[in-house]
Amino acid sequence: MSVIEQNLTERQVVVLGGGLAGIAAAVRLAQEHVPVTLVETSRRLGGRATSHVDKTTGQRVDNCQHVLLGCCTNLIDLYRRLGVAGKINWADVLHFYDKQGHHDQMVASDLPAPLHLSESLMRFGTLTLSQKMQIARAMLAMMRLGPEGRESFADITFEQWLREHGQSDQAIQRFWEVIVVSALNQTPRRCSAAYAMQVFQEGFLAHREAYRMGTAAVPLGELYDTAEHVIENSGGRVMHGASVKRIMYDGKSVTGVQLADQQTLTADAYISALPFDRLDKAADESLHEADERFVGVKQFEHSPILGIHMWYAKPVLDGPHMIFVDSPLQWVFNKGLDADGSQYLHGVISAADVWIDHSAEDILAMAHRELSAYLPAAEAQGLARGKVIKEKRATFNPAPGVDAHRPTTCGAVGNLFLAGDWTATGWPATMEGAARSGYMAAAAAMGRPAVPAVADLPTAPLVSWVNRLFGPRV
Ligand SMILES: Cc1cc2nc3c(=O)[nH]c(=O)nc-3n(C[C@H](O)[C@H](O)[C@H](O)COP(=O)(O)OP(=O)(O)OC[C@H]3O[C@@H](n4cnc5c(N)ncnc54)[C@H](O)[C@@H]3O)c2cc1C
Repeated sequence: MSVIEQNLTERQVVVLGGGLAGIAAAVRLAQEHVPVTLVETSRRLGGRATSHVDKTTGQRVDNCQHVLLGCCTNLIDLYRRLGVAGKINWADVLHFYDKQGHHDQMVASDLPAPLHLSESLMRFGTLTLSQKMQIARAMLAMMRLGPEGRESFADITFEQWLREHGQSDQAIQRFWEVIVVSALNQTPRRCSAAYAMQVFQEGFLAHREAYRMGTAAVPLGELYDTAEHVIENSGGRVMHGASVKRIMYDGKSVTGVQLADQQTLTADAYISALPFDRLDKAADESLHEADERFVGVKQFEHSPILGIHMWYAKPVLDGPHMIFVDSPLQWVFNKGLDADGSQYLHGVISAADVWIDHSAEDILAMAHRELSAYLPAAEAQGLARGKVIKEKRATFNPAPGVDAHRPTTCGAVGNLFLAGDWTATGWPATMEGAARSGYMAAAAAMGRPAVPAVADLPTAPLVSWVNRLFGPRV
């Protein structure tokens, strides 16, 4: 087979993988006038956070609903660079429901952070006063720990930490688990306490805006339709349908990337924004041995998510979403009305190990049954149509100890930079983590410190003060 050697100009960077991490890296490089080539195996950019065309209706539907929070500063920056920040709907109110008929709303009051959500939490009908007090005490303990303090709990489960801080079964099930499962794609019983604490420290306590929830007002894939244009307008290029087969290594540095069609791309620097299992496959033994960042690559496991698409002939849900505190169906999003007047709802089950091997029929029956327990109109109508998308490899499993295996952007092989939601971003496997990692790798490929493009939201003075005065001495 012939090998086409394609020599690229000096300071050229090749980015492997066009998910959010690869897009962020390529956009940052292109906008800094670095000639960049983004190589993506599928026909569209976006990776796991994307959409596809439903064969039955021709409708573009998301593989699964994705949400971001106000604290996702780098992702929001990426959307701005792509010109799509206006296509994100922001919700200030989070709606929680239980089967006893409570509808609780989490919303910021006028109080400053970290007290802004406390008023609405104190009104939660689904929690008893004693459970609310337990939760408030645990929140205070997390504030005292601060970001540095939480790292010492990276190797224990969040449930263990919660138990040690006086949380009852009910408080865990009806509050902590509801938030943690959707944020981390893992249960408190199986996730690292440090990751879980980060969700509450940064999403709930540090800043008034941090908890606000964003969802795409358009199918997810449309958020990246401009990416190719932005990259190519700045002198970069995007190769679709181009699959990385092998990262070539000569014992000192990466010398090229071989594609499945035998084409070889060469450049000065390479950014891998591939998922961990794909990077593992593309890197041969000598690269694994040369660079300590590869030691942990085989230690990651996946955690699954189910996306449940449901159509009802007539509207059954008025509000924008429902978060269930006592159901295997964890979230439902209102995706609006179709042209024929039917309502499209999207259910999500994260940490879906229990459901992943069930048939689509079983899962849809369960989802309809659960929804009917909260929405009588759904029961009366019956489900018109449904579709289940199983993502077995949705995210890496944020288990205790996994942080130690996450590789840094830079390592022994000096012209290879690692990105992807699974690398050491300081964030769990999220779109924000992916965007950060891409920005960090782009900065490093330009010879700068591997830092994100945008700072975190500033921490409220009261939160810093509690941590400084009452936190652990490190
Ligand atoms: C069902 C589901 C729900 C989720 N919900 C949320 C949510 O609500 N909020 C949130 O923040 N995050 C959520 N996530 C996580 C989020 O989608 C990911 O963290 C993020 O998209 C990861 O981006 P990435 O660029 O690191 O990886 P990926 O998106 O996996 O990108 C890797 C890219 O590399 C490409 N590739 C693979 N192999 C090759 C090869 N050999 N050659 C060339 N290209 C290759 C892939 O096609 C892909 O485009 C969810 C994920 C799933 C699956």
